Amino acid sequence: MDIEIGSWINHRQQLGEHAVPVFEPATGAVYARLHEADAAIIEHAITGAEAAFPGWSGLRTSERAHWLNQLADALESELETFAQAETRDTGKPITLTRSIEIPRAISNLRFFASAATQFASECHFGEAGLNYTLRAPLGVVGTISPWNLPLYLLTWKIAPALAAGNCVVAKPSEVTPLTAHLLGRLAADIGFPEGVLQIIQGTGAEAGSRLVGDPRIKAVSFTGSTAVGRQIAVRCAEHLKKSSLELGGKNAVLVFADAPREGLFDTLIRSSFQNAGQICLCGSRILVERSFHDEFVAEFVRRAQALRPGDPQDETTRLGAVVSAAHHQKILAALDLARSEGATILCGGAAATMTREFEGGWFIEPTVITGLGPACQTNQAEIFGPVVTIQAFDTETEALALANATRYGLAAQVWTSHLQRAHRLAGELAAGIVWVNTWMMRDLRTPFGGMRESGLGREGGLDALRFFTEPKNVCLAP
Ligand code: NAD
Repeated sequence: MDIEIGSWINHRQQLGEHAVPVFEPATGAVYARLHEADAAIIEHAITGAEAAFPGWSGLRTSERAHWLNQLADALESELETFAQAETRDTGKPITLTRSIEIPRAISNLRFFASAATQFASECHFGEAGLNYTLRAPLGVVGTISPWNLPLYLLTWKIAPALAAGNCVVAKPSEVTPLTAHLLGRLAADIGFPEGVLQIIQGTGAEAGSRLVGDPRIKAVSFTGSTAVGRQIAVRCAEHLKKSSLELGGKNAVLVFADAPREGLFDTLIRSSFQNAGQICLCGSRILVERSFHDEFVAEFVRRAQALRPGDPQDETTRLGAVVSAAHHQKILAALDLARSEGATILCGGAAATMTREFEGGWFIEPTVITGLGPACQTNQAEIFGPVVTIQAFDTETEALALANATRYGLAAQVWTSHLQRAHRLAGELAAGIVWVNTWMMRDLRTPFGGMRESGLGREGGLDALRFFTEPKNVCLAP
């Protein structure tokens, strides 16, 4: 064990008295110690951010954009270090962190640097005087992010908050603290304005909860489970502070017999198993029109079986480990439950057998399940692992009913060549994001988020900048 991970407050690392081990999912070995931010460290983080706020919010937008771009440039120059670190901390393949996740973290910073300089507020004229809207930053805000896309989601929150002129206290997941730790050090190294970005490390129950409950934190942007999101919404309501909640999902994939075949299986294998299914946008319930069902299942299972879990640092690996022992157990328990519900497991269904070096790691075989109806737990509860179910449907109406038959509403995919059907379903699916004949194609300007129990509020583009600002209407007599 060689790494001590603490909080980065005013550009200095602070180690708390209580530390917990951090594990490498591929081997199960402890490789770092995470020092929990205690009350004194969090106090220091918030007072430091409050002290930095007048200076940061007083900068011109282009000056703040310049700092975000500086941070993005520094991150880009350290891309390989961050990719290696993220892979070690999460167990996901190096090809993912190197080519998608760290580059996306860089894009998040650059995108909001640029978006802030293009952010215009409204003007209303011709009805009752001349009205214009001022949008001021909120002050010190908190961000709380999960373990599945650690740096990608942390930057997705801090970038709009900072660009809009807020100071941020960011709490990454205690399960995957490494890249946030490196980002804190990087910000210090480049002389990013002190106190503007504070990174506190620790568990949700301690550090996260203290952050949410502090009245000086003006808003909380949270991504994580629905259960925790609900608690955070209640606590924010007590203080009448804003919250933005990106929560769990159980996303449906509707495959019609006229689905374009080009890219279909490649995309659906990715949307099922990328990052071992630990992406909130993964499609976990595949619904296939009956006339195409058997052919689809045969080809899909053939491809899933070809996906062998392996060393995340190996460039040929497409399926890595899942993030923790606890999550590994949770997925295996969900598979036992599926069996008890009468599932037919067409492939996978168990922990993967690995070579000696990775025997202690947390790997799961890609799993495809049939034979279960929409009401069973396997089709209702989020599993968040390399596990998909397949159900058949006969009509568009039935497909829609199956797709909407959960309490979640994050994302959906529709695969069809029928233009009107695609539009019709896009309108009727209970989901915040609908992809037609594609998956994970992301334009950062679009509203991002879920409905029902998948979330409240939207991130991305102007929605994020609006969330992190307070509008004020000014009315001038004509
Ligand atoms: P989680 O809810 O357990 O934890 C998320 C974060 O909240 C962590 O930083 C954790 O320390 C913190 N936290 C936990 N309890 C807290 C509390 N009481 N007060 C304050 N903070 C607290 O979620 P997870 O297991 O890290 O992430 C997986 C979940 O995230 C899945 O449900 C997944 O669907 C969801 N997710 C959603 C999106 C989205 O955009 N909708 C994106 C990624 C992940």
